[in-house]
Amino acid sequence: MAYKIIRSKRKTISLIINDTADLIVRAPMRITNEYVLELIVKKQKWILKKQREVLNRRKIKNQEFIDGEKFWYLGNNYELKRGEYQEITLDRYLFLPNKYTKKELKMLTQWYQKEALEIFFDRIRVYSEITGWKCNKLQLSNAKKQWGVCDNSNNIKLNWRLIMAPLTIIDYVVIHELAHTVEPNHSKRFWEKVAGIMPDYKIKRQWLKDNSKYLNIE
Ligand SMILES: [Zn+2]
Repeated sequence: MAYKIIRSKRKTISLIINDTADLIVRAPMRITNEYVLELIVKKQKWILKKQREVLNRRKIKNQEFIDGEKFWYLGNNYELKRGEYQEITLDRYLFLPNKYTKKELKMLTQWYQKEALEIFFDRIRVYSEITGWKCNKLQLSNAKKQWGVCDNSNNIKLNWRLIMAPLTIIDYVVIHELAHTVEPNHSKRFWEKVAGIMPDYKIKRQWLKDNSKYLNIE
């Protein structure tokens, strides 16, 4: 494993993964190279995990909106195609008009939001019919970390970025928020209600935790 060592008058040794995913070791003068190597071997799992996180973050950032870049939609990965198109369309590729040069992010976000609203309305309707739980008003949210929220007037907000996730994951969030219209808190009764509609909801919840970093455009 490659690393760079920086020695100084400091008293403790620390391992740092910088934003290009390189391993930097900051160490006191007296520490031997053998000791450093031993520490790296011992901490290997942590180092690899941190490096992966940094690389994944880099992957979803700095999008250039050029041919071949990948975009998520309902759990599938689509390649971007630029060209003289009239509007954004999704088929075998995600077609992005050349006329949107310099406003790609804005136009693509608007497109995702329009798609999201249509699909979320539909899933709310489907699960309202199944459960009898009623949502007063559905809106999109632009929250950074929250997938959904239901207030005490039964207004539900769903994060538009969920449109990038598979439909079953959207359904989990829809069921979760609809269940809040009858059980406001995350009580045992609440989770029993969710499980009554979606017995494997825990797998969906874990999927969201593991994959949320991919569900974005920047
Ligand atoms: Zn909740």
